Amino acid sequence: MGGTFDPVHNGHLVAASEVQATFDLDEVVFVPTGRPYQKDVEEVSSAEHRYLMTVIATASNPRFTVSRADVDRPGPTYTIDTLRDLASSYGPDTELFFITGADALAQILTWKNVDELFSLAHFVGVSRPGHELRGEGLPVDRLSLVQIPALAISSTDCRQRVMDGAPVWYLVPDGVVQYIAKYELYRSENG
Ligand code: ATP
Ligand code: MG
Repeated sequence: MGGTFDPVHNGHLVAASEVQATFDLDEVVFVPTGRPYQKDVEEVSSAEHRYLMTVIATASNPRFTVSRADVDRPGPTYTIDTLRDLASSYGPDTELFFITGADALAQILTWKNVDELFSLAHFVGVSRPGHELRGEGLPVDRLSLVQIPALAISSTDCRQRVMDGAPVWYLVPDGVVQYIAKYELYRSENG
């Protein structure tokens, strides 16, 4: 599951947990992006903060791990590189699934090397409040659509709440609330 995770929130965790259970996956690997090429770099927290919050959020789940693949790769992050790296580190006997929310799924045709993407992984689109879940134009045999419990949470809203002094308790895991406070993340417009 790739994402900016700025910060990781309970919507991400429920999506991962549901897909893990639905497909009986051995492991869900969270891959925080290095430099998300479709987002403004200035507005994204450092990769290290995002990586560490993701580690904190997933630590208690034995099936959840976090990969540094995108954080450590120089240059902008493309999912094609993420999947190539994971495919080579896990080896040819591993079947890869890529978990994505309905909003990101709708953008997938704009992603780099889209045909190869679908050859490297089975895509799983999950429902997200405010977005229609549909796989139009995508290869049906390489895509599953899964309805998950609706959590109307976004990282953008969590950042705005912190900036406004509103609580993010129960929207993000407790350890992430404490991490955000400790490092004073999202307090000002210029990060
Ligand atoms: P931002 O507002 O900064 O874009 P976000 O909440 O959309 O943050 P991302 O890191 O962009 O989080 O998303 C990573 C992945 O998780 C994407 O595939 C996204 O669609 C999915 N996702 C995020 N939030 C939810 C949610 N509440 N329910 C289902 N899927 C979600
Ligand atoms: Mg997003």
